[in-house]
Amino acid sequence: MSIYSPSIEKLIESFEKLPSIGHKTAARLAFYMLDLSEQESNEFIESIINAKKNLKYCSKCYNISDSDPCPICNNPKRDSSIICVVEDVRDIIAMERTHEYKGVYHVLHGSISPMNGIGPEDIKLKELISRLSDNTVKELILATNPRVEGEATAMYISKLVKPMGIKVTRIAHGIPVGGDLEYTDEITLSKALEGRREM
Ligand SMILES: [Zn+2]
Repeated sequence: MSIYSPSIEKLIESFEKLPSIGHKTAARLAFYMLDLSEQESNEFIESIINAKKNLKYCSKCYNISDSDPCPICNNPKRDSSIICVVEDVRDIIAMERTHEYKGVYHVLHGSISPMNGIGPEDIKLKELISRLSDNTVKELILATNPRVEGEATAMYISKLVKPMGIKVTRIAHGIPVGGDLEYTDEITLSKALEGRREM
């Protein structure tokens, strides 16, 4: 038997589904929401609904954006002959912070992980391969995270793409092994991009 009323219990359960939110924090957030004025809580709810409604995947690079194609794919100043492959949308933000990279991106939305039952067909890989079919891409920069899954994914893509005659590079290891692109500072990431080596 829960000590909370069913409505509060349901709200706590919803918060608990969010990443890195335990039961205690979920309860705290739930009670915080209850203390908000009706206008405040409506604004909060609307911001979630609007974000879900307006944001879509870019049909080229699978970035999340208000528009399709996304502003990066749509920017004529970006060099579409270079594609930087990342695991997550947040990695684009990290790369953009360096102000060094002028190519475009491809978001895999994950990495190959046999341990977790994630195969090549579960990430946006065939979408990447189909982007390469028109022969306009000269270089593929593999910027997957320097973890086991990220390395395996880079290796897999490299083997697949190299026979197509496209230059495949891997960002250098300025990034700590086991680290996340998302949390890597701009200078380290710039250097990693600069020092990329051919696979
Ligand atoms: Zn895009």
